[in-house]
Amino acid sequence: MALIIHQFAIGSDNLGVLLHDPATGRTASIDAGEEAPIAAALQEKGWKLTEILVTHHHSDHIAALTALKQRFGARVVGPLADKHRIPDIDVLVREGDHFMVGSVDFEVFETPGHTVGHVAFYSASEALLFAGDTMFAMGCGRLFEGTPQQMWSSLSKLAALPDATKLYCGHEYTLSNAHFAIRFDANNPELQKRVSEVEALRAKGAFTIPSTIGLEKATNPFLRAGEPALAAALGLAGHPADEVFAALREAKNKG
Ligand code: ZN
Ligand code: FE
Repeated sequence: MALIIHQFAIGSDNLGVLLHDPATGRTASIDAGEEAPIAAALQEKGWKLTEILVTHHHSDHIAALTALKQRFGARVVGPLADKHRIPDIDVLVREGDHFMVGSVDFEVFETPGHTVGHVAFYSASEALLFAGDTMFAMGCGRLFEGTPQQMWSSLSKLAALPDATKLYCGHEYTLSNAHFAIRFDANNPELQKRVSEVEALRAKGAFTIPSTIGLEKATNPFLRAGEPALAAALGLAGHPADEVFAALREAKNKG
């Protein structure tokens, strides 16, 4: 039986996600940014929180961790590398580790770049990826701690997953990412189409997430840094992909 996924807004642009395993009744929250919206979502669905999966240490992802853990007696899974700055982790995980949410197996990918300890969670059987602030729809996280090379290699690892993999991420930044992407990849017909779709979705207040790995490979400029068109748009024709990636991230920082 497949996991049931419930996505909801937290604050202005964070995305909350609950995963419910009907076979066992277990329910996981991806990150724990704010107690009230997560508790309200659990109540609305009639689910009891049993796991919290933590992607990284930023406060918009862990501010309610201790409160939710205590309130529901949930088990916290989080990155070993961030043990010193994420409180209350019960199951410390690193690259290649597996853990279960009820009857469903998840694998851990270390994805340094946005932060050095960042991890993503992947279920092959459910074709689901929870990428936190590493990969966004048509975007990627800011490099607060890692190098462009680290982030490029983290994104490349996630991009190697099957095309049908559903991508969930930490923020609804898709519309502004789309407008950035089209500046550097203007002649990409799939991107042109997606920009209109995303504008229509946001105009009616709908989420643009989940995306898929296949769609990101076709439209996310940060995954397309190896494409000649992207390199040329940045004045870096013939340069290696990680260098093009670094220039693209720099351009995004400038807005
Ligand atoms: Zn973050
Ligand atoms: Fe965040």
